[in-house]
Amino acid sequence: MQQLTNPRELRGLAILSQPNTIIQTGKNEWDVRSQSKNAYYQVTRTFVKGRDPQHLHDWKCTCPDFATRNMPCKHIHAVQFSLKLSGDIQEHSTPATIAETEIKVLCPSCKSGNVVKRGIRKTQFGEVQRYGCTDCDHRFVVDKGFCRMKFNPKVITLTLDLYFKGVSQRKIADHLKQFENVEVTQPTILSWIKKYLRLLGKYSEKYKVEVGNIWHSDETTVFIKKEGEKKYYQWIWNVMDAKTRYLLACQVTENRFVNDARNPLQKAKSVTNVRPDAIVTDGLQAYKEAVKAEFYDNEAFIQNPHIRLKDFETKPNNNILERLNGTFRERTKVIRSFDSSAGAGEFAAGMQTYYNYIRPHMGINGMTPAQMANIPINLMGNRWETMIGLAATK
Ligand SMILES: [Zn+2]
Ligand SMILES: [Zn+2]
Repeated sequence: MQQLTNPRELRGLAILSQPNTIIQTGKNEWDVRSQSKNAYYQVTRTFVKGRDPQHLHDWKCTCPDFATRNMPCKHIHAVQFSLKLSGDIQEHSTPATIAETEIKVLCPSCKSGNVVKRGIRKTQFGEVQRYGCTDCDHRFVVDKGFCRMKFNPKVITLTLDLYFKGVSQRKIADHLKQFENVEVTQPTILSWIKKYLRLLGKYSEKYKVEVGNIWHSDETTVFIKKEGEKKYYQWIWNVMDAKTRYLLACQVTENRFVNDARNPLQKAKSVTNVRPDAIVTDGLQAYKEAVKAEFYDNEAFIQNPHIRLKDFETKPNNNILERLNGTFRERTKVIRSFDSSAGAGEFAAGMQTYYNYIRPHMGINGMTPAQMANIPINLMGNRWETMIGLAATK
């Protein structure tokens, strides 16, 4: 889906946001309800041999607009759009080249930015750049998240990587012993996970992300198990941009009321300047009020971008988020009994950072959603170290 600019396309999108407006009556036939009178128009498509894949079909509609213009009307766009929603995922775009960003070094003593490189300090894990402040003469090294750790960044980031891939703490310990020749206890592993989850969770993007105009929101259960208590579940909400797969929000709430649904939508709004033309949700009632409250705009062409799919439309395979998000979802299932002291919110935030910045996505040519969304952070090399460095030096 390209950015929608054609008004008929936009109107087609608006049609979709109302219930029961498209009824499939045959393999290539749909009834689309008129927006102005109580009638249905018939939209049909016929396959044309030898066309390029983008235009395999001829489309017709029985409405007056189509009769006069013989061009796709809003009813045709509405059907095409609904097919897109349930079917193919948009082809990725090529991202702009990403400029390298250096961490801004400030003097920890007087907060001055007037610092110069002053020699190298040798540590057990290699060489570390030393700095000197030209204002107060303080000498220091920058803690990029690994100072005072007994193990080297490679072992720690490997641990995090395995953890976010769903490997158990016991298996991580086994792996480190076998392949890295280091003995790490399970409590140590847990302490690293907690420390870096918290750190990554605090990291928030200072650039607005460049995302597409079709977003998906959904919610699934996440099980929380606290020491000595019965496990219980809460809800994890994901708002994702269909074009870049950037996860705009990932939040945990106790309930599924209107306010709970508004939280992640509000978060999503705050990380980008894009106003979505469509927010596709499942049938959950709370979305009605929530999307309206967050996105209704009198001035906008599509005043209410909400497209609420009926439950049977979202299951089992029509939910783009479900498919885009398969791995993420798997992971939030496996984590079910994650430690209570690394709270659910921190876990969700850490997961979001991992998903957006670190994990390459097969559906987008092995790029990360952050790269797709043109975030100007150099994430070459060890992405974990880069992200931890950014989060630690903020
Ligand atoms: Zn029409
Ligand atoms: Zn200073």
